Amino acid sequence: MRNPKWHRDEIILALDLYLCISSGKINHSNPDIIELSRLLNLLPIHEERPDAVKFRNPNGVSLKLGNLLAVDPNYQGKGMERGGRLDKLVFEEFIGREDELHRIAQKIKETINNPELNFKLYQIPNDKKEIIENVREGQVVYKLHKYRERNTKIIKLKKEQQMDLQGKLECEACTFDFAKGYGKIGEGFIECHHKLPLSEIEIESITKIDDLALVCPNCHRVLHRGISTMNINQLKNHLSFSYSWNC
Ligand SMILES: [Zn+2]
Ligand SMILES: [Zn+2]
Repeated sequence: MRNPKWHRDEIILALDLYLCISSGKINHSNPDIIELSRLLNLLPIHEERPDAVKFRNPNGVSLKLGNLLAVDPNYQGKGMERGGRLDKLVFEEFIGREDELHRIAQKIKETINNPELNFKLYQIPNDKKEIIENVREGQVVYKLHKYRERNTKIIKLKKEQQMDLQGKLECEACTFDFAKGYGKIGEGFIECHHKLPLSEIEIESITKIDDLALVCPNCHRVLHRGISTMNINQLKNHLSFSYSWNC
């Protein structure tokens, strides 16, 4: 049985290392490659590892760095295995943006080196391939965002604060109010979105009430479709309607 294909986050980590070492040092006994193999085995993404012994072992990691050589436009050598579509996409995405790549790789590493946090991220399901490929920060940082906005204690406080201030819970983007739209059964129903951009999310920070925005599930899903680029004000500007209430 074959192990799963390399995920975008794994390629980000591999590319970050690839850009730091010379091609002559790509081998399974290089300590940096051994360390990357360890990290990849911690990544809270692949649950199924049919061949657990070989899963991202130093030999496999060296081969992946060899694949990256094959898609590197600056490498003139021969004999490397052909790189895959995703290797090429990630390489092209970050070429000339090495600082950003390094920042993302560091964030992923910090997260997975925190066992408690890493365990919690394992419990959040992976997104579909199309979504993952559009999230610049990758799946691990995105899961960190989701984990932060699912803190039930702070969500409860946010809703209480909003009820005290405005006496209603309406979507901050489209203004839909479930209590008005659906009556009693809609009372108290709304979701919370973490407003901090993925690029600024910190590992150790604690979610504060002001980090959260109240949004209806539709607006929340749309915000997540543009998670790397869209904020609530931008979403508001996209909306071609607003709800009007007669009461
Ligand atoms: Zn809404
Ligand atoms: Zn959200």
